This record gives sequence, structure tokens and C-alpha cells, in this order.
Amino acid sequence: MAETVTNWAGNITYTAGEVHRPRSVAELRGVVAASPKVRVLGSGHSFNRIADPGGEGALLSLAGLPPLIEVDTAGRTVRVGGGVRYAELAAAVHAKGLALHNMASLPHISVAGSVATGTHGSGDTNGPLSSSVREVELVTADGETVVLARGDDRFGGAVVNLGALGVVTALTLDLEPAFDVEQHVFVDLPLAGLDHAAVAATAYSVSMFTDWREPRFNHVWVKRRTDRPMPGFPWAAPATEAVHPVPGMPAVNCTRQSGVPGPWHERLPHFRAEFTPSSGTELQSEYLLPRQHATEALHALAGIREVIAPVLQICEARTVAADDQWLSPSYGRDTVAFHFTWVDDLAAVVPVVRGIEEALEPFAPRPHWGKVFSVPPAGFGDRYPRLDAFRALTDALDPAEKFRNAFVRDVLRA
Ligand SMILES: Cc1cc2nc3c(=O)[nH]c(=O)nc-3n(C[C@H](O)[C@H](O)[C@H](O)COP(=O)(O)OP(=O)(O)OC[C@H]3O[C@@H](n4cnc5c(N)ncnc54)[C@H](O)[C@@H]3O)c2cc1C
Repeated sequence: MAETVTNWAGNITYTAGEVHRPRSVAELRGVVAASPKVRVLGSGHSFNRIADPGGEGALLSLAGLPPLIEVDTAGRTVRVGGGVRYAELAAAVHAKGLALHNMASLPHISVAGSVATGTHGSGDTNGPLSSSVREVELVTADGETVVLARGDDRFGGAVVNLGALGVVTALTLDLEPAFDVEQHVFVDLPLAGLDHAAVAATAYSVSMFTDWREPRFNHVWVKRRTDRPMPGFPWAAPATEAVHPVPGMPAVNCTRQSGVPGPWHERLPHFRAEFTPSSGTELQSEYLLPRQHATEALHALAGIREVIAPVLQICEARTVAADDQWLSPSYGRDTVAFHFTWVDDLAAVVPVVRGIEEALEPFAPRPHWGKVFSVPPAGFGDRYPRLDAFRALTDALDPAEKFRNAFVRDVLRA
């Protein structure tokens, strides 16, 4: 390989034979047509080999393409290039008085890479980030462009696509009028007696953080749209100072708290674009399961908290509304998501990940596609009822399996 490329966390070194950074879509088409195996690298924030083309393949970064962001103010949509990150997109959209419905914990990630893995923020009524996508423009294996839009029978496989259909050169997203958000943090919420549904329903977006050293949540971050009421938070006391989700990390890295209102894109993510997100030295896992099991599943995790806590930096519980992308981890079910920020020690973390998968198994969890998991995807057939439809779509758009790496082959084997 000509050049060493790693993911953001540094735990994956891609094994690609070639790395390409085309400067135009025409050049990109040429690379795709000429390469036997291709995988696109987004901003590299996944923690596993999902983007790795393998030793014979080409890794294609879109970071060198002109940064396309075309806002249609009247139509309330934006067409965004395949290499653009949420930070730039959000600023451009906000400048036109418009907003995305939600954001992940960080704005540093690419839009195309995020929606490809089902990336989500929080909120009972907020679908994953992919749910705002209305059209996908793909360069497929032969270098041609295919457009898949809402209403097309194939659209259910188009957005959360694991990079398996082709190169996403642009996406068109729904927008809404810009809104303000206040972020309130509460501390020390006990697990005993928790009414998860009531806590999660408090505001537009709610995140519950625990280090599992005790059966309680260290923080609850409540993000209230200022155009909606806040019913009060009787279960825990307000924080007296700004906090970071990871104990010991500086709060200055985080978006403004203490109930100070601000624009949606400066409150919905936890981390500010100009700082390192999260702890920066970490691995991550996440499991998404039907929301009605949230309390029972939290107690199952509490039952193994003495195993979890020693390798954990922080665990976050969020909610995600059901969506209709076939491979979305929240497909067809209102979801609770349990995220784990681990210490940066894969050997120590993997046995704990296995323990969590066993503890959550009764609730049919779906792992986040971009994070560390140990269950073989070849068993996911029963977790994804439309997997056959996705397999047929990949066969139709990519018959020579140019975009199929080991990760995707594993998923499709289910
Ligand atoms: C600090 C941190 C915080 C995080 N917080 C959250 C969170 O709040 N919520 C959450 O759900 N996840 C979160 N994640 C996970 C992250 O959102 C996902 O891993 C996401 O996929 C990252 O996007 P990326 O562009 O870096 O993707 P990459 O890892 O670069 O790629 C992911 C997949 O997308 C494909 N891909 C990328 N671009 C294209 C394209 N243009 N065309 C075709 N395929 C493409 C790749 O081939 C690969 O299969 C977090 C990760 C980190 C490191």
C-alpha cells in the first residue's frame, strides 16, 4: 500500500492497495471504473473494518471534491456533496434560516458516511439522520450515475447502504425552519424506580449518561426546543456547572449548557466542531433495541456493571424513532440505544462487549454498523426483515461485487 491510512480512533489501519482522492466527479468515475474493488472512506469515524476495501482494493476519499452545499430555501431542502461534514453543512443551512431535524453527538462526521451506517442523535420522535434524506446520487460500479429518490421501490435500501451500492456523490435532505434549543443538565438520577419513558419524553432530545460505577445516571442532558414546553424534571437536581460526558474531560469541548438558548446546531451535538469530540482516546460500541424494553434492559446492564465499569469511559442511553430504511438499526421499531465509550484497549474490551451482547440478547439488539461488536453479522437475518431486499439491490446495482468488502459479505451472508 502506497500510504498508511487509519480511522479517527487509530484502531484500524486500512489494508487498501491504493488510495485515491479525486478532485472531480469525472475523475472519481474513472477511478471507480478502473478499480476491481472500491470502498469509500468518509471522515473515518467508524471503529471497525466497514470501510476497508481489503489488500487488492482502492480506498476512495471524497475529501478533495469541491464542497457542494446547495440550499433550496423555498423548497426547504439541501443538496450536499458526498464528502461534506455536518459542521459545514449545519452552518450553511443555518445561515439560510433553516435546520436539520437532528444531529449526532459530534458535527465532525461526514453526512454520507453517517447516514450509510444509520448514525443517530436522540429524541423519541426523531428518526436517525438518514430519515431526512430524500434523494441519493450514486456512481455505480460501471461509473454511471443512478439516482434513488423517495417513492422509488429501491429507496428503502439506498440511504443506510453500508457503502455497498456505489459512491454517494450527493444527497438531498429535508430541512425545516431554524429553531433554538436550551440544554439543561441534571445530575445523579438513580436507576431504582426509573420511569425511562417519562425521562426520555421530557424534551426534544434527551441523553442519559452513566459510568456504571453505581446503578445511577451521572448526568441527564435535556435539549429543549424553545418553541416547545418543558414539563419539568422532578427526578434529579440541576448541575451547578458545565460538564463533559466523560469524567475528567474539559467541559469547554462541549456545547453550551445551563439552559442558555442557542441555535439548533450549537446545542443538539454534545461536542463543539472546533474541539476533539468525546475523549479522543477510545473505542465505541452501541446496541439498539425496542424502546419498550428500555428499563428491563438497563437493569440487565446494571446486573453486569462490575464487569463493564473497569473498561468504560461512559455509557449513553438515547432514543430514536422508528424508520423505514431496511438496514437501519432502528428499522420498524421505536428504539432505545445504549452506547459505550470504552478505554482504548481492544483486548480488554472485547470480552466485555460479548458479555453485553449476552445480557441484551433477550431484547434482540441490533449493533451500530460503525462500532465494535462481536456477534457475527451472518446471524442478522432475523434482526433485519428486509435483508433479502437489500441483497437483491446490491446484486442489481453491483453485479460484479466491486463495492463488496469482507464486512458487507458477512452481513449479506445472513
Ligand atoms: C467521537 C465519535 C462520536 C460518535 N457519535 C455518534 C453518535 O452520536 N451517533 C451515532 O449513531 N454514531 C456516532 N458515531 C459513529 C459515527 O457516526 C459512524 O461511525 C459514522 O459512520 C461516521 O461517519 P464517517 O463519514 O466517519 O464514516 P466512515 O467510517 O468513513 O465510513 C462509514 C461507512 O460509510 C461508507 N461511506 C462513507 N462515505 C461514503 C460515500 N460518499 N459513498 C458511499 N459510501 C460511503 C464507508 O464506505 C463505510 O462503509 C461516533 C463516532 C465517533 C468517533
